[in-house]
Amino acid sequence: MQRLTILGATGSIGQSTLAVVDLHPERYQVFALTAYSRLEELAALCVQYQPRYAVVAIPEDISRLQALMPTAGTEVLAGAEALAAVASHADCDTVMAAIVGAAGLLPTLAAVKAGKRVLLANKEALVMAGDLFMQAVAEHKATLLPIDSEHNAIFQSLPCNYAQGLANVGVERILLTASGGPFREFTAEQLATVTPAQACKHPNWVMGRKISVDSATLMNKGLELIEACWLFAARPDQVHIVIHPQSIIHSLVQYVDGSTLAQLGNPDMRTPIANALAWPERIQAGVSALNLFQHQLDFFPPDESRFPCLRLARQAMAKGGTAPAILNAANEVAVEAFLAGKLPFIAIPQLIEAVLTQLPMSPANNLDTILHADHAARVLAQQWLSQYS
Ligand code: NAD
Ligand code: MG
Repeated sequence: MQRLTILGATGSIGQSTLAVVDLHPERYQVFALTAYSRLEELAALCVQYQPRYAVVAIPEDISRLQALMPTAGTEVLAGAEALAAVASHADCDTVMAAIVGAAGLLPTLAAVKAGKRVLLANKEALVMAGDLFMQAVAEHKATLLPIDSEHNAIFQSLPCNYAQGLANVGVERILLTASGGPFREFTAEQLATVTPAQACKHPNWVMGRKISVDSATLMNKGLELIEACWLFAARPDQVHIVIHPQSIIHSLVQYVDGSTLAQLGNPDMRTPIANALAWPERIQAGVSALNLFQHQLDFFPPDESRFPCLRLARQAMAKGGTAPAILNAANEVAVEAFLAGKLPFIAIPQLIEAVLTQLPMSPANNLDTILHADHAARVLAQQWLSQYS
């Protein structure tokens, strides 16, 4: 029986995780659930799964949540320290890291440092602190399993000894597929007037609002490029982006002998989640098998002039140090402003580029430096935004 903490239980990934857990009550027991808002949903989950702990954002929410579930035997905690505590608790085996954004870094790192089996959906944590994060995985012997569908596909397409180095196992390059998002065919003029509602309507996936906007700007693929470099010790020039509008091939690995291995499936996050939950075994995910007769598969190169976020992410990774943390923080501020109707879609990369250009980057050799860079980038991004108010 694996005892499971789900960080971000009320989100899209959190819900898909619980859907897989529901199919396997004999394998998984929910140990802790966390949420930032949507207390009614968290209360309903606590009543259903009876976790030992629930974690909310602020102390005032503790009594609110308790009032919503008077009979549940769940202990309610609040705040960042409580998130880290349930992620590293001795009685928890596996942590699903599904908080969105930089807020997920500290609890995910706490799980890593406690040597847990960590299922990583929270790509922003790895983008911000890739070097420290991967060092901590090695030092504390954590098991890190990728949930992002592309990285899970790469993980499935690599040999199990890939940690010896990609060159040593005959890997030449990784092809990271991207749907292209809802605006794949929009002209620059059309992009100038798109709305948050349009951006959040992804053609193939139902996801949280932040990652939906990231998919529309292609920053999601930029973050995933950085994520792939850290997870698989790949050089940025070894990771190639391929636009594949149908999202059936979730990514591919090319070997020196001319072989290309890929993972295919219907676009449903329950597949990578089930893969990581059960790895190295396989379990039912509740996802139907792919019917190849129903699909035509297309591939295009990305257009970085209409979607500059891809270039910005690649440049930040090449710069190294705190540059990816600065990129991530500026992007989070930009996406929030766009969703609030305060920033045009096409100004998202402009804001990020301005912050990256103005803020000096430094080596990212400790957490304080990274958190400081994150904070400084947010302050600068807010200043830049004031021209729109
Ligand atoms: P979501 O917005 O649906 O859910 C986010 C969860 O995090 C919620 O439970 C929310 O309460 C919690 N949360 C938000 N802000 C928080 C904060 N400041 N402190 C603590 N908790 C907070 O997001 P999602 O789509 O489930 O995505 C979660 C993560 O998984 C993201 O990093 C995303 O990039 C990644 N991911 C998602 C998908 C997908 O299909 N949804 C696919 C690949 C990767
Ligand atoms: Mg992805």
